[in-house]
Amino acid sequence: MPDTEECYRIIRQTRWPEGVICPYCGSKEVQKNGYTPKGAQKYHCKNCGKYFNDLTGTKVRKQDASSFLSLRI
Ligand SMILES: [Zn+2]
Repeated sequence: MPDTEECYRIIRQTRWPEGVICPYCGSKEVQKNGYTPKGAQKYHCKNCGKYFNDLTGTKVRKQDASSFLSLRI
């Protein structure tokens, strides 16, 4: 079984090396807001009020998460 938590950790590190940034407004005023059923971290932007998660607006789709991980093994 792929370690999805590790996978999302890598995605976050790659996408936001200096901390989570809102994909809608670019603000760093972002609050953690639980997890999606697939295990991605959810966020709430305090600046624009929108919600997003680890995969929002990226080319990495949910179904690609496991293959993304397997590339590293
Ligand atoms: Zn925002």
